[in-house]
Amino acid sequence: MDRFIVQMDQSVSAGLFARSQHLIPGGVNSPVRAFRAVGGVPPFIELAEGSHLRDVDGNEYIDYVCSWGPAILGHAHPAVVSAVAAAAARGLSYGAPTAQEVQFAEAIAERYPSIEMMRCVSSGTEATMSALRAARGFTGRDFIVKFEGGYHGHSDGLLVKAGSGLSTFGIPDSAGVPNGVAKYTLTEPYNNVSRLQALFEQRGHEIAAVIVEPVAGNMGCVPPAPKFLETIIALCKKFGSISLFDEVITGGRLSRGGAQQHYGLTPDMTCLGKVIGGGMPLALYGGRREIMSCISPLGPVYQAGTLSGNPVALAAGLTTLNLLDVTAYRKLDDLAAQLADGLSAALIRTGVPGIVQRVGSLLTLFFVEQPVTDFASANASDRGRFARWHRALLGRGIYWPPSQLETAFVSLAHSPQDITTTLEAAEAALRDASQ
Ligand code: PMP
Repeated sequence: MDRFIVQMDQSVSAGLFARSQHLIPGGVNSPVRAFRAVGGVPPFIELAEGSHLRDVDGNEYIDYVCSWGPAILGHAHPAVVSAVAAAAARGLSYGAPTAQEVQFAEAIAERYPSIEMMRCVSSGTEATMSALRAARGFTGRDFIVKFEGGYHGHSDGLLVKAGSGLSTFGIPDSAGVPNGVAKYTLTEPYNNVSRLQALFEQRGHEIAAVIVEPVAGNMGCVPPAPKFLETIIALCKKFGSISLFDEVITGGRLSRGGAQQHYGLTPDMTCLGKVIGGGMPLALYGGRREIMSCISPLGPVYQAGTLSGNPVALAAGLTTLNLLDVTAYRKLDDLAAQLADGLSAALIRTGVPGIVQRVGSLLTLFFVEQPVTDFASANASDRGRFARWHRALLGRGIYWPPSQLETAFVSLAHSPQDITTTLEAAEAALRDASQ
């Protein structure tokens, strides 16, 4: 244990962690939950309410993970919980069409005019995998382009990083991904317009789709450079490729109509997840009618799901979307600005080198000296300092994402007092982490 940690009792979590590691790889059902990047025992959570979490040892935290994005209203919002309970009482799953699916699709189409047709699935991974299959089926092309540091779920073709030098052939980023699959994924640096233009000049007619997080959230919060997203859309249009915005994080988070509304852009296809399911397993992919008309049973691209469009998940999602009006986004923005400005001021006061990057209610404190614009600059951060800061924060009751390359989320349940408390803890933790 580091000497600067505010001591807290984690004995029950530690016992559970020891047991879980026998049966579950790393003791967790999704890797980052294991806290490997920051060390220590991950708190095992027993209750989440509003902006707060309580662990099995009785420690309370102000939560900035927000279930990695979905909990935009805060945890256990009463309207969402009662909609879920009412839906569950009518049956958990039918495997048949429902009126709620129509209402939900209409609610999405109203918010995202680019989504003329859509298909519900159960995770962001499924959404991106299926969207790319549709793009390939529609264009008859095999290659896709993604950006370094972009995460789009764990399907084989998306667990790929850049090859060395100018060769943009992908190489697998995970064991178990065949080279033969990875080679169809071309990778370029985020925000690099000239590299993308050069790639299209060379191979544009082979490219089925470009998949992009319109605000990167998986290398910390990295905003798009001016003209970056516009160039993607224009190049795709020129070469007959599909522009695919992965809005699994940004959808419903940056505005009612996601990043595409925020920036006034119209991609060919979009993936949504997280917020649209209000904490339940629900995601979707959709886009231009002619592309989505390739999907089975209308067309030759097969995709299906036993639990797709699940009625309980839809009840949570629809209730959440209906509570997110323009005022809600203004409030989120104000709260996140208070947090970001306060963190920047704390960095200055403590003399710790760092930069806070924020878009709407997404934000990251990077321990860097220069703004982060891509994966390489994100990796320049001082990971050791981040880990020390994180542990000191946790000990002071703040549950921050346990990796420098993740984004913190603010919810509507966070109060200005929560933010003030967080800023006091964050500044003290910055001093601790400098020792
Ligand atoms: N796309 C993005 C941008 C994501 O951040 C994530 C998950 N963090 C995914 C896709 C995958 O979603 P899921 O974890 O629901 O499979």
